[in-house]
Amino acid sequence: MKHSTRESWLEAGVKALTPLFSKAGYAVPLCKVSCGFASTGTRSGHIGQCWSTKASADGLNQVFVSPALEDAVEVLDTLLHELVHAVDNCEHKHGKEFKKIATKLGMVGPMRSAGAGPALKEVLKDIAAKLGAYPHARLSVPKKAAARAPRPRAKCVRCGFTVPMLREFLHYGPPICPKDRIEMEALGDWDAI
Ligand SMILES: [Zn+2]
Ligand SMILES: [Zn+2]
Repeated sequence: MKHSTRESWLEAGVKALTPLFSKAGYAVPLCKVSCGFASTGTRSGHIGQCWSTKASADGLNQVFVSPALEDAVEVLDTLLHELVHAVDNCEHKHGKEFKKIATKLGMVGPMRSAGAGPALKEVLKDIAAKLGAYPHARLSVPKKAAARAPRPRAKCVRCGFTVPMLREFLHYGPPICPKDRIEMEALGDWDAI
């Protein structure tokens, strides 16, 4: 099988994962699924996100898989995790209701990042082989730590008085210390000027 778009591949992925849920006694709701960033941003480290039917105008769950993922098995693993949220309609986050479904499916690890255990991983590999190449090119997303530039601040070298700076006023330059009346030192990331 060959897919020309990521959505068609992901939709086929949902279809292929659905029997795993049926076997565990759960029905996967009709979902919209696409490649896209989580609303929590690229720095959150979130590789997938599922939205409740309550948030969607058409009443369908919407699932997103991060563009940072390109490995088919990893994408399926993420899809599986998000589908657990869809089955729960995002009611219980990673609580015990989520854990019950995930564990039944053969997922392991801390529930926040629960993924396929060894046996389930093999099943995902088979599914990936049948789906063929995931038609996506991985986006290099800056890692959490690397991307966190220190916020712009100003500090008085004499008394240590420190103040956070708003980006829109960075071009004014560092302020004057209210106590010592001297120009403060620029600290952190002032490059946004
Ligand atoms: Zn989750
Ligand atoms: Zn000072």
